[in-house]
Amino acid sequence: MRLRARVLDPVSVDEARYLPDALVEVDPAGRLTLVEPWSGGPCDEDLRPGLLTPGFVDAHLHFPQTRIVGAASGPLLEWLRTRTFPEEARFAQADHARAVAEQFTASLAAAGTTLCQAYGSVHPLAAELLFQALDARGLRAIAGPVLMDQGAPDELLLPAGPALDALEALAERWHGHDGRLQVAVIPRFALSCTMPMMQAAGQLARRRGLWVSTHLSENGEECSATTSLFQAADYLSVYEQAGLLHERSIYAHCIHLSDSEWDRFAGSGAAVAHCPDSNDFLGSGGMPLRSVLDRDIPLALGSDIAAGRSFRIPRIASSAFDNALRQGQRTSPARWFWTATRGGALALQQPQVGALQPGLEADMVLHSLPEWVEDPQDVLNTLLFHQDAPPVLRTWVRGRTVSQR
Ligand SMILES: [Zn+2]
Repeated sequence: MRLRARVLDPVSVDEARYLPDALVEVDPAGRLTLVEPWSGGPCDEDLRPGLLTPGFVDAHLHFPQTRIVGAASGPLLEWLRTRTFPEEARFAQADHARAVAEQFTASLAAAGTTLCQAYGSVHPLAAELLFQALDARGLRAIAGPVLMDQGAPDELLLPAGPALDALEALAERWHGHDGRLQVAVIPRFALSCTMPMMQAAGQLARRRGLWVSTHLSENGEECSATTSLFQAADYLSVYEQAGLLHERSIYAHCIHLSDSEWDRFAGSGAAVAHCPDSNDFLGSGGMPLRSVLDRDIPLALGSDIAAGRSFRIPRIASSAFDNALRQGQRTSPARWFWTATRGGALALQQPQVGALQPGLEADMVLHSLPEWVEDPQDVLNTLLFHQDAPPVLRTWVRGRTVSQR
C-alpha cells in the first residue's frame, strides 16, 4: 500500500517531524517500509490535505463506563458510589456487556486510539466479551477485569479464588493473542481489595508475565482512607507490600505522592498514566509533572473514561498542557504529541508502534486538517489544541482499517 499524505511524526520528546507531502508505504504484513518526502511515482491513494500521524495511546480507561461519560460529578468516592458502581453492576448481563464492548471499541478507533489499557467490570464474562470485541475491531490493548473483594456493593464483589481462576483462564486465551492483546491483573484500587487478594494477584501476574495496573493516590479522602485501612505509612507501601509495584505495572493518577513515594516509584520501573481531564472533572488535583520528568519515570496519557470526558487523546494532551501551566511549567506541544504516541507506546512496552518509521507496524490516523494550516508548529498546535478540530477520518492498526468515516 502506497499512500500520499501530509505526515507528522514524533521524533523525540522535544521534536516532531513534519512532511508537507510524503509517501507512506506499508507492506502486506502491515509494516511500514518507507516514509519519505514525495518524489513521484504511483500511489494507491492521495490523502492530501489529510494529515497522517501515528495512532494514539490511551493508557487508562474503563470500558464499563462508556455510557456514563459526562456523568462525573466528583469527588471520587461519591462518584463511584452513586454513578459508577450501579452502572458496572449491569455488566453481569452478557447482552449489555457485549453491546457496550462494541460501542467502546468503535469509540476508541473513531478517536484514533490504536493502543489502550482498559479496565473491565468485575465480571469475567464481560472481560471475555471485551477481548472478543477488541480482537474483532483489530485494536491493540492491555485489558482485564477489575478485582474487588471488599469496599463495594455485594453484587460487584468476587472473592480471590474464583476471580483469579477466571483471570488465569482469560490469560490462557488472550495474553499475547495476535501480538496485539495482553492481559492485565487489575486490583481496582486498594480500598476495594483485601491484602491477601492483592498479594495473590501480584503472584499471578509474575508467574504468567501479565501486566499489573491500578489507581494510585488520586483523591485526598481516598489516600487517608487507604493508609488508615491498611495501617500503612503511605499509600504506595500498600502496593509494595502486595508485590504489585514493578517494571510491568501502570499506575493511574499519582497525584498526592510524597517525595519518598516518588523515589521508590521511580526505582521500580513502573509507568504513570496521567489523566488530567479526569483529575479536573472530579476535582482530584493536579499530577505534579516535575516529579515524573525529574526522575525519568515512563509517562503515558489516559482519558480515564468516564471520569474523563473524551476518548480523544489530543483533548487529554491539551489538558496535560494546562495542568503543567498551572504548576508554572510551559511544556512544548511536541512533548505531548510524543507522550500521546511514541512515548505512550514505550511506557506500555510496545516498541513496535507509536511512530511512522520504517520497520514499525503501521498504526496510523488520518486527520482532516485544513489545507491552510501549513506551518509545522501550527500543524502540531492545531492537532493538539484546536478543541473543535475536525474528527478523525480513518484509523489503521497494522495497516488494516479499523475505523473510517
Ligand atoms: Zn480510572
